[in-house]
Parts: sequence; structure tokens; C-alpha cells
Amino acid sequence: MKTKLSPSRRPTASKTRNGNGSWISGTRRMLINGKWVLASSGETFSTFNPATAEVICQVAAGDKTDIDAAVKAARAAFEDGPWRRMTPSERGKLIWKLADLLERQLEEFAQLESLDNGKPLAVARVADIPLAVDLFRYMAGWATKVVGHTIPISVPYAPGAKFFAYTQREPIGVVGQIIPWNFPLLMAAWKLGPALATGCTVVLKPAEQTPLTALRLGELIQEAGFPDGVVNIVTGFGETAGAALAAHPGIDKVAFTGSTEVGKLIVRAASNDLKKVSLELGGKSPNIIFDDADLEMAIPGAANAIFFNHGQCCCAGSRLYVHKKHFDKVVDGVAAAAKKIKVGPGHAADTEMGPLVSEEQLNRVMGYLKSGVLDGAETVVGGNRHGDRGYFVKPTVLVNTKPGMKVVDEEIFGPVVCAVPFKDVNEVLSVANNNNYGLAAAVWTRDVSRAHRLASELRAGTVWVNCYNIFDSALPFGGYKQSGWGREMGSEALELYTETKAVCVQL
Ligand code: NAP
Ligand code: MG
Repeated sequence: MKTKLSPSRRPTASKTRNGNGSWISGTRRMLINGKWVLASSGETFSTFNPATAEVICQVAAGDKTDIDAAVKAARAAFEDGPWRRMTPSERGKLIWKLADLLERQLEEFAQLESLDNGKPLAVARVADIPLAVDLFRYMAGWATKVVGHTIPISVPYAPGAKFFAYTQREPIGVVGQIIPWNFPLLMAAWKLGPALATGCTVVLKPAEQTPLTALRLGELIQEAGFPDGVVNIVTGFGETAGAALAAHPGIDKVAFTGSTEVGKLIVRAASNDLKKVSLELGGKSPNIIFDDADLEMAIPGAANAIFFNHGQCCCAGSRLYVHKKHFDKVVDGVAAAAKKIKVGPGHAADTEMGPLVSEEQLNRVMGYLKSGVLDGAETVVGGNRHGDRGYFVKPTVLVNTKPGMKVVDEEIFGPVVCAVPFKDVNEVLSVANNNNYGLAAAVWTRDVSRAHRLASELRAGTVWVNCYNIFDSALPFGGYKQSGWGREMGSEALELYTETKAVCVQL
């Protein structure tokens, strides 16, 4: 996949129907210290259209040297630049302006995201880009509200002395941010929004599969007027650029979203100098439908829980537990919904589900489907590829699964749900919690007491009741157990990017 840029091997960029054609022709450069640069090695890599497996364009393949340059630029911008001298209100205005510019370019970003990631254009238009705009606005508001406390202290060993004590919240410093490909722009916003609101500077590494919207966002960051070096964007591979960023002694914190496996590598890399780490990792989220649930809501809700974004959601409802009274009806309903989903290229107007992001993901999901069948699972619907061009997989429902099977225990990150019947609440609670992950869970019931009991007993960072996949910039999101460390969005996100300083003054 990695190529040295030479005229003979330079691919012809595909043209999109939306005017992105000229932007994606040639080689996309990286943003370091306010300049658009090639990798110091001259290396590039291809980004692909997952609907056709065709190359979209070449992108600079940054490595350790480029990461080092970006970290130095971010450090200089943090220590001495105009960013440091700006008021919180000025920072907030810049972030708000970035949101306005992104909204102005909504259609362009939706087209680019759909092209690079494969997701339906309609989804990028109503979810990915507007949510990113909203997140920037929400965080722009926080810039002026990062406050400490005054604290009355007693100091038992200093009788009679008087003190005035308070805390202040300071930016953590230079932050390395490594993001995945499933919601490329939105994940960039989740990371950049709170870091900028709190006054940090950033080196961002997008996923190799989907670097384009982050790079275009870099242009808007410049247009908004952020000082050079505040946001640096280094494209490249995880094992080179990503690993160099996580291990770099010049950063104060690394924020990562992606697989639990790589999350553990990040923690190891960061442990050399004990830099701060936040992680948003995988999931295998239980979605529980009780005997008193409104099935008119719960059945499409269960289909949406797993099939939204082709199941490439860390919080996908991939374990569907249904009370035995309704098991057949719910499985039939979700299977019927799966059959009706229009699978096709992201840009087609009637597409409801696009391709998986890459050949690697296609092979990974197909591997899980094969292992499920070998382990004795029964495929109710789907179970194989859709067509033979691009990386499409049919929405799939499996039954006759049990704990211990890979399809039940591990994150598939594709449109594959395991449906399992249950008899009573204690049984389903224990099986739902019996997993290494703890990102999200959902409960469908009309019984208020049961809903609240489960909301409290499910070991997950988000619990949805009679809904699924509801996100808001104000709601914290993150995981229990091996689903991660820390919470993104909401006021909690500010904690990821600030240090608390205690100040004590003797009066
Ligand atoms: P991944 O390897 O965890 O990639 C996530 C990010 O980490 C990418 O930017 C990646 O760069 C980077 N990275 C990879 N290896 C690294 C390393 N050693 N040090 C620092 N950074 C590194 O995820 P993936 O391979 O794309 O997908 C594999 C599985 O991860 C999926 O099937 C899914 O189960 C899970 N996943 C979870 C999420 C989530 O939102 N929680 C998102 C995506 C994937 P490159 O792109 O260059 O490799
Ligand atoms: Mg791509």
C-alpha cells in the first residue's frame, strides 16, 4: 500500500460528481506548523474508494521525523505563540467560526466522507457532518467556562492560621490524538473540540483508510484563523506515525479511539514517561428486549442498533437478547429489516448501507461469519458478501449462538448481530454483563422500575432505554472495562484535557 511518489506510479485521481475532483487530484499534503508539506521521506500511500476498490488519491505518509516536527510545532505554539495569550473568549470564537465554516461546506464534507469511508451520503449529511458542527459549537461555549473552585480548608496541624485556597484548571499541554475510520470527521471533532476549548495544542493522526476529511478540516482551521502550530495533522500508518506519536516524549497526553488491541499498545508506549492517556475502544453491546416492550419500536430499533453505519460503530448493538415469548417475532422482524436494506455505493441516492471501509475489514468480518458457522451458529439472513466488487457484506442475523463463540464474545465491527433468547431479568443481566467490553447497552421495556434497575446494573458507559444510538454533544460517552478510559463529549471531556492545580495562600 505504501509507495514512493514517482510520476510513473502516480495514480489518476477519480473524479467525484460533486466538485471534489480537483481537491482530490494529486497528493494530499500534511499540515505541520501552518504549512502543507509532503512527508520528509517523500513516501505516500493510497486512499481507496471502498465501493469500487479504486484509488482516490495519494496522501503523504508521515513517519517519526514528521511526527517529531509536528510535536515541536505544537510545543512552540503551546509555550510561546499567540494561542497562549488569547483569552478564553477569543478561543471560543475561533472554534465557533470553525463550526460555521464546516457548516458552510457541509455538502462538500458529506461527499468527501462518503467517498473515502463508503458510508451513504445521506448518513454523512444528516449525522457525521452536522454532529461535528454541533460538537465544535458546544465546545466553543465551554472555552469560557472552565473554572476552578474556592475551597475552605481547615489544616488541623496549623491552628489559628488562615488560608485562601482555590483550584484552577489549566490546559494539559501538547496532545497527540489518534483516530479511527468509522466516523472520520466526527472523531476528529470529538478530539479537537475539547482540546482547543481548554487551550491545548494538538498533533492529530487520522486513520490511513480515511484521511481526507481531516485534511480538508485543516484548511478550514487555517481559514478560521487558528495560529500556526495549534493544530497539526500528520497522515500516515499506525505502526509508524501513530506509534511515534504515542511514544513521543514531547507530548503531555495521548487520546486514542480505535481497537482495544491498539489501545493496549498506546498505554505501553505512553508508560515510558507516564504521559496521560484517554481511550475510547471497542464494544460488544447488549441490546435487551423484554416481554413488555413495544415491539413496533423495539424491532426497528434493534435493526438500527446493529446495521447503522454497517455495524462499524464501537457501540453497535451486536448482542441482541430477546425474551423467549417474542424471540421468533423479533428475529423475523430484524431479519426482514435486514433483507429490505438497500446495499450499494455511498453516493447512490437510494443506498441505505454502503461497503465496509477496507478489504482488511471485509476479510475480518467474513472470517467471523465463517467461524460462527463452524462453531454451530445458524444464519437467518445474510452471511456473505454482497456482489464481488468493493467491500460489501450483507446485513446478517445469527441465532443458536452461545458465550465462548468468537461471534458472541468479540467485536466484529460489521453488520452482524447474534440474537439470543432469555427467560428472566437476572439471567439476562448476568449474560449481558459477561463480556470484556462495557461501552453501551440498551433496554426495551414499559416497566419503569425495571428500566431504572437495569440502567443502574448494566456495566456500560451509556444505557439507552427504548432507543438506541442517541448521541448528543452534551452527553458523555465512553467505556467501562476494556472499552476505555475517560469520557468524551459533555463537560467530562474537559477533564481529559486539563490539569487541576491547587493554590494555597496564607493570609
Ligand atoms: P486500529 O488499528 O485500532 O486503528 C485506529 C487508529 O490507531 C488508526 O489511526 C491507526 O492507524 C492507529 N494505529 C494502529 N496501530 C497503531 C499503533 N501501534 N500505535 C499507534 N497508533 C496505531 O483499528 P483498525 O485496525 O483500523 O480496525 C480494527 C478493529 O478495531 C475493528 O475491526 C474494530 O473492531 C476496532 N475499531 C474500533 C473503533 C472504535 O470506534 N472503537 C474504530 C475503528 C476500529 P492506521 O489507520 O494507519 O492503522
Ligand atoms: Mg478510503
